[in-house]
Amino acid sequence: MSRYDLALDQVADLLSAEPSYRVGQLWEGMYRRFVEPAELSELSRPLRAHLASMPEFAPAFSVVEESESDRGATLKWLLAASDGTRVESVLMGYRRRVTVCVSSQAGCAMGCGFCATGQSGFVRQLSVGEITEQVVRAAREARARGWGRLDNVVLMGMGEPLSNYANVRAAIGRWNKDMGIGARSITISTVGIVPGILKLASDPMQVNLAVSLHAANDELRSQLVPINRRYPIPALMDACETYLERTRRRLSFEWACIAGVNDRQSDAMELAVLARRLRAHVNLIPLNPTPGYLVAGSTSQAVARFRDELTSQGVNVTVRNTRGRGVNGACGQLAGSPLALSRRRA
Ligand code: SAH
Ligand code: SF4
Repeated sequence: MSRYDLALDQVADLLSAEPSYRVGQLWEGMYRRFVEPAELSELSRPLRAHLASMPEFAPAFSVVEESESDRGATLKWLLAASDGTRVESVLMGYRRRVTVCVSSQAGCAMGCGFCATGQSGFVRQLSVGEITEQVVRAAREARARGWGRLDNVVLMGMGEPLSNYANVRAAIGRWNKDMGIGARSITISTVGIVPGILKLASDPMQVNLAVSLHAANDELRSQLVPINRRYPIPALMDACETYLERTRRRLSFEWACIAGVNDRQSDAMELAVLARRLRAHVNLIPLNPTPGYLVAGSTSQAVARFRDELTSQGVNVTVRNTRGRGVNGACGQLAGSPLALSRRRA
């Protein structure tokens, strides 16, 4: 539990002995100013002390480790809940925007072999407050560093967000309503849980959807992404089409480029057919190294060739940079374990 799990009326109950405007002050302190109760100078000292002592009001996570890379432009937090559960979030400052990548589950049950989270297995779902607290921490840090507002939130940290649908949905509602982060600035990345995509399609909240495709035929995709056996590519593409028709939002395909596995010309041609059909933007991510997967990421030349092939087939494509690699904080490297000391400030 976290203070960010409390609904407004629960906060009001905690402050029942206070004048009612205190509730709004506290709520605003939590979601707009990102301060600790002790820092809310408009509240009386005894009230601040009372709030600080209430278990319902404690933060969900403590920071086990904070590590920086990319010359301070990327920050990774390893966080621990009181039951010992560990998750990670990554804050990235770019020239014109600030993005945080948050976890939706501790571990992941999907078992994609090339992903450090998948290699470590599922631990538990994160609560609404636990997901939200990661965003609040990031917004506070971005402000403290003079980076300004937190612009984007991507659910691309540990876990499969559509396997924790209700909590992810409620957390996004909170960011929208209480933190002023628009749905258009929020991206859910999914391995391709078809019922979850369909549920999202009928939700009035219109976030961006990223589908981690990695292979455009069922045989290869089932090897890379085991859940493909349950939700094969034709069903996945139909669900994406429904999502697009209902929401008119942007769809992207994520593709981790793995040397000799999915970076051949034939892979690009197959991918182009799917991307054109759904007018999807393709994000290429050179595979980041993880302990449990020994095939290398594609070389930068191979990634460039793959990109050019897609472009010549009329597909919009971006090569993602490898932010956070120096601290094992890049895509697919989040495993919830501390770094060796020597790597802390890579
Ligand atoms: N479970 C969700 C979101 C978390 S994974 C999903 O799979 O989409 C976030 C992204 O990192 C996904 O696109 C995933 O495929 C990618 N990824 C996983 N392992 C990776 C690795 N070793 N290198 C590069 N990208 C990786
Ligand atoms: Fe889970 Fe996504 Fe990693 Fe697959 S890539 S194991 S779905 S976190």
